[in-house]
Amino acid sequence: MNVLERYHAMDYGPAPEARNEADAWLASRDFAKALFIDGAWKTAASGKTFDTSEPSSGKLLAKVSDAGAADIDVAVTAAAKALPKWSATSGYQRAKVLYAIGRAMQRHQRLFAVLESIDNGKPIRESRDIDVPLAIRHFIHHAGWAQTLEKDFPDHKPVGVVGQVIPWNFPLLMLAWKIAPALAAGCTVVLKPAEFTPLTAILFAEICERAGVPKGVVNIVQGGPEAGAAIVNHPGVQKIAFTGSSEVGKIIRKATAGSGKKLSLELGGKSAFVVFEDADLDSAVEGLVDGIWFNQGQVCCAGSRLLVQEGIAEAFIAKVKVRMSRLRVGSPLDKNTDIGPLVDRTQLDRVKGLIAEGARQGAVCWQPDAALPTTGYYHLPTLATSVAPANILAQEEVFGPVLATMSFRNTEEAIELANNTRYGLAASVWSENINLALHVAPQLKAGVVWVNGTNMFDAACGFGGYRESGFGREGGREGVFEYLAAKLPVGPAIKPTAASSAQPVEQADGASIDRTAKLFIGGKQVRPDGNYSLAVATAKGKLAGEVGLGNRKDIRDAVSAARACKAWPDATAFNRSQVLYYFAENLSGRADEFAARLVQLTGVTARAAREEVDLSIERLFLYAGLTDKFEGRVHQPPARVVTLALHEPVGVVGIVAPDNQPLLGFTSLIAPALAMGNTVVAVPSERHPLLATDLYQVIEYSDVPAGAINIVTGRSAELAGVLAKHDDVDGLWLFAVADTCTKAEADSIGNLKRVWTGNGRSLDWTSSDAAGEAFLRRAIEVKNVWVPYGD
Ligand code: NAD
Repeated sequence: MNVLERYHAMDYGPAPEARNEADAWLASRDFAKALFIDGAWKTAASGKTFDTSEPSSGKLLAKVSDAGAADIDVAVTAAAKALPKWSATSGYQRAKVLYAIGRAMQRHQRLFAVLESIDNGKPIRESRDIDVPLAIRHFIHHAGWAQTLEKDFPDHKPVGVVGQVIPWNFPLLMLAWKIAPALAAGCTVVLKPAEFTPLTAILFAEICERAGVPKGVVNIVQGGPEAGAAIVNHPGVQKIAFTGSSEVGKIIRKATAGSGKKLSLELGGKSAFVVFEDADLDSAVEGLVDGIWFNQGQVCCAGSRLLVQEGIAEAFIAKVKVRMSRLRVGSPLDKNTDIGPLVDRTQLDRVKGLIAEGARQGAVCWQPDAALPTTGYYHLPTLATSVAPANILAQEEVFGPVLATMSFRNTEEAIELANNTRYGLAASVWSENINLALHVAPQLKAGVVWVNGTNMFDAACGFGGYRESGFGREGGREGVFEYLAAKLPVGPAIKPTAASSAQPVEQADGASIDRTAKLFIGGKQVRPDGNYSLAVATAKGKLAGEVGLGNRKDIRDAVSAARACKAWPDATAFNRSQVLYYFAENLSGRADEFAARLVQLTGVTARAAREEVDLSIERLFLYAGLTDKFEGRVHQPPARVVTLALHEPVGVVGIVAPDNQPLLGFTSLIAPALAMGNTVVAVPSERHPLLATDLYQVIEYSDVPAGAINIVTGRSAELAGVLAKHDDVDGLWLFAVADTCTKAEADSIGNLKRVWTGNGRSLDWTSSDAAGEAFLRRAIEVKNVWVPYGD
């Protein structure tokens, strides 16, 4: 054998990480007493336990207390008891606690990493170099937010007791993403890890005991879906933060409908990994390995759909196959291992089942020729080619080491294919042409876009999805907001419109003068589809006029018009600002007329009516001015990369406006949505819709592009229901009776739209707090685009 042959024949020897400390820790604990509640270790009231086993061998690691509803109740009570003192604790004191947690974790960094790899199966290289250091960074980063909270987030207060439910793929890291911002914000928590991976959370609770976390501030319970549901449904919890599957996310959205609980959902993904022909192919292959085979592909943002430009597809796939053949599948505690076992047999079976179905649907699945360890839940890295866009491997989240590959011809096709998914968590774009990459990034429907990179995370940068990947962000400034409640000026309870004040009236056929206000759709006044009208009463109960009685079809038309309107979201912020200023100007030209209308319809005094009109104009002015001020940020994470936190419009926003201060309420809602580039389908006050229909001409004169504002009058409850179920509506703002709000939240799960309701209450629109950032924040999604620099 010559030197070269010898070199090529060389293989890695085993490089096992010592596990004796972790084994000693496992042997030392009574896991039947593993519920950390009110600063003490408790058994489950039922005495039940569940098994957690080692994915690399299938061997039992521990029998862990399995919490039931009674235990969750005790934990929530403890968190509620601890809340007043913790939320009143100074930011500095809270910062010290967060810092102490981070430092204590640093001292036990190796134990955390080994334990994580034993319990989850992830390679030690990943738990040691990524999961644990990032978890620590989250605690230390959030110490700073605790201290600057009052200055940085004026007019906000801690949301209260938070219920947190996390998955098994990054047990400690997800715990850190949840607990660190909650504690910084002054909340207390009840957290439940996934039933496959309870161990590092137990070690973390021990750290809390030592780091001076006051009793009841952090409660960590163990168990499965039943315990998770008990947290979600507990009336003493004010916010639910959930990370897990989209399926369970939807169950939680439905279960919390009408409860007033704040909700953030970090769900699944089917992220595109887009390689243009001018990419550095070798770097892209390395990126892809990290994108899809990191953590065995059990990553929410895994780049599981490779989209590669046609001209380089063959060469690129060949390189990928060579690289796949070199991936080392083996013990998670071996420092040379690239791919460990999947977390559990059920997950292994699921992955195999999806591959078989993908193949049945025409995909060609390839695996390197390698032997797997004889025990444990191992699976070879798998490449699927000839994947049709509708193939299950292109659409479903596999959550395993499986890459589906497709090719594209040009940029438009790449964007279309990338967005051809119900998810919207992340995407990765590879091109040496930064102009092209930054042209593509904003067009991808994803909360995170990595340019020439993948799987970059940092505590200072928000992470979270669009569409069915959920809502809310974790990390950085956006993440802290998830644990705060804005102090909005509460208005009156919204009552159902009395049938007598708005009776449907069949429209007179062939009437010579049609004085019925029509609907406003796609920039035109159109008759309602059903050809029915609603009589509108004056304050004195006389007939003031009629408006169209919109129905499902009208809402659908309005949504199509809003979706088709590209001129508004594509306009520059300055253009939008000019239009909104012009809108205000034109309204001011007709201020007397609107004031008189308010007196006639609502019975307010002439002075109050004038004030409402003036405030409506002022509000339009405010948002006109804010279009180019509520901007994104640039983060500088600890790497050679800048992260552009871009503010993007949510999309099509449905708005159901309240009855009180009907002109001001309407303008206060449509203006912030428009200012940020959303297109709007608005349902005006059911009782006083003429104030909105009188605006048609004002809108027409104000250069608002057709389809940017659409107005459908009619029954609020019915129209809200249609908007809630419509999968092309991305956001819904609802100031309607409580029952309508509850139903709309429950009905919004189709596409997991962002729903904001007043839970049956309106706001006091005259207050200056009924305007500004709290509204603009709801009108945007933050997209984090990561751009590396340097050679
Ligand atoms: P899962 O939804 O089955 O379980 C997640 C957690 O929810 C577990 O703790 C589980 O016990 C609990 N749970 C299950 N049913 C529940 C119910 N009805 N009510 C309340 N809680 C319930 O998900 P999983 O299989 O553990 O994790 C994988 C999923 O997590 C993937 O879809 C992945 O994409 C997603 N994930 C998302 C992110 C993100 O940030 N977007 C991060 C990691 C993982």
